[in-house]
Amino acid sequence: MARLKIDRELCIGCGACVDACLYGALALVDGLAVVNDLCVACSACLDVCPVVALSLPAAQDASLSADTASGVWVWIETQHGGAAEVSWEMLGKGRELADARRVELVACVLGSRCQDLALSAGRRGADRVLLVDDPALAAFQTDVYARVLLTLVTAQRPEIMLFGATTRGRDLAGSLAADLRTGLTADCTELSIDPENGCLVQTRPAYGGNIMATIVTPTRRPQMATVRPRVFEPAPVQGDRVPTIERVAMPPVGELATEVLAFVPSRSDENLGQARVIVAGGKGVGSAEGFALLAELAALLGGAVGASRAAVDAGWVSYAHQVGQTGRTVRPELYIACGISGAIQHRAGMSTSRVIVAINSDPTAPIFDIAHFGVVGDLFQIVPALSAALRQQLGDQQ
Ligand SMILES: Cc1cc2nc3c(=O)[nH]c(=O)nc-3n(C[C@H](O)[C@H](O)[C@H](O)COP(=O)(O)OP(=O)(O)OC[C@H]3O[C@@H](n4cnc5c(N)ncnc54)[C@H](O)[C@@H]3O)c2cc1C
Repeated sequence: MARLKIDRELCIGCGACVDACLYGALALVDGLAVVNDLCVACSACLDVCPVVALSLPAAQDASLSADTASGVWVWIETQHGGAAEVSWEMLGKGRELADARRVELVACVLGSRCQDLALSAGRRGADRVLLVDDPALAAFQTDVYARVLLTLVTAQRPEIMLFGATTRGRDLAGSLAADLRTGLTADCTELSIDPENGCLVQTRPAYGGNIMATIVTPTRRPQMATVRPRVFEPAPVQGDRVPTIERVAMPPVGELATEVLAFVPSRSDENLGQARVIVAGGKGVGSAEGFALLAELAALLGGAVGASRAAVDAGWVSYAHQVGQTGRTVRPELYIACGISGAIQHRAGMSTSRVIVAINSDPTAPIFDIAHFGVVGDLFQIVPALSAALRQQLGDQQ
């Protein structure tokens, strides 16, 4: 049922609300605005009405008040039929936040034939899984997904909503936050609950990584945040847990601006995020040929090649390899930094790696401050020597 109220005495039939509505929920009939069941109470039309003829009952305003909102929600992103690993990381952090707030943890699973994903989300600790399973959700489309989530959020009123800071997660979270007129903090590196007021405390680097900013959304709900992959530990699987799955019918989404014609995977997608070993190079590597030495070592270790921004800017490797604040966040078992000074913006993307080995000719390079093992020397001697030793070891094993 439509929630928007239209004062027919005030309406002048200008059509501004019809143009502003993303959902096709408003039309002009006999020179006056009328609303239909596609209305999701997003309130976009309220701002454009020149005569204040439109209103939403306070309790149904999509921008929720802090008093009525409850629960921590996590959007589970589908990737190649499974979940994006970052979604499980969000569930792990979501569990902590929900426990601190003593509220339920809810996983939102949207997709087509994704019952298994919903079961997995339940086994990863969600108290409840909201499942919208519909062929219209088979391919990710920001506008469709945002409208479905908007319907769920306005109906159930969570206080916190978390997304992985993937390309899709960033897009979806931004779109939803705009519709809800609430705050969104991107690329958080830490999330906690303020014990004084129960607000979500969102920490992220600011001013080029020179300071850590603490951001709160004191009045609007939900408090929304994105977090990059590999910042938090994934929620463990609890095999004996019986998930609670709530199926929700696909809500009407109105007219859409986009249509998915085909899916063409990107060839340049280097799977840095999943690599267990990364051999990364910086300005000290000196050339694209220098990176071939690193690629050889990475291949011997079954790993991937990473890079500092300086190396990417120099054109020696593509941006897909960049690690750091404006590149990927990685958390491999082993990170070998070759000819990288260790600027704060680079460290922001790799400092949580399990073991860091730094190879640098300058003993005062800041990378040594966070390295578990440091080698002071020329990478052009050390990297080939490492590769040769590994080749010999592998040969001996065969
Ligand atoms: C807003 C903003 C965002 C940024 N985002 C990123 C980001 O995402 N990722 C990122 O990496 N940077 C980022 N930067 C850039 C960052 O500040 C540094 O400039 C960059 O990381 C430096 O790269 P580097 O360590 O390769 O180069 P340098 O700082 O020039 O260091 C090169 C190192 O190589 C060593 N070296 C030289 N020759 C040899 C040799 N033969 N053998 C061994 N060692 C050798 C040198 O001693 C030196 O320590 C960002 C900057 C800003 C302002």
